[in-house]
Amino acid sequence: MTHSPVHRCECPRCQSAEPHPDQAFHHHMNVFLSRLNEPQRRWFVALEAMRLGHGGKHLLAQITGMGPTTILRARHELEADLAGSPEVHLRAPGGGRPAAEERDPELEHVLETVLALETAGDPMGRRPKAKRSSLQHLSTALKNKGHAVSRPTVSKLLRKLKYSPKVNARRTEVRGCFCGRASRAVRPYQ
Ligand SMILES: [Zn+2]
Repeated sequence: MTHSPVHRCECPRCQSAEPHPDQAFHHHMNVFLSRLNEPQRRWFVALEAMRLGHGGKHLLAQITGMGPTTILRARHELEADLAGSPEVHLRAPGGGRPAAEERDPELEHVLETVLALETAGDPMGRRPKAKRSSLQHLSTALKNKGHAVSRPTVSKLLRKLKYSPKVNARRTEVRGCFCGRASRAVRPYQ
């Protein structure tokens, strides 16, 4: 992940040869701002400008290099409770937890094994033997095999493995009754 360069404060105190506590503070502020995205930067700068009151906008423009027009716009956005402003996504691209099947490469295979056992009782493969098996049941079965996954994850994996949701299962069943053969294209499961 790359970071924006840290802006150097151009306020009179930071330009002066005399040491001043503001020099470190302004530097820290610019370091902090370099890690924010654009909307976050302008909202923080506008807040600081509002906190300082008179002359705040001008000083913050010197400290951060942000244009006074941008600071004013951010102030108006804050005053409107950020209505219509974009949501800020806090996770970096590619960040966050990897999908369960990536963390546990065996997971899909184990789920298929569990499903195979449950559908084994029907020679047509049309109706899973344990049709009433819930996501909770599958989740528990996986957990017992040492693969702890949530129900939503089981649901996602079922879709991925082409086990159709309830509605399709019913439709497939009806079609199976008419032709006497189950469609193998969709493996009904719920
Ligand atoms: Zn400064």
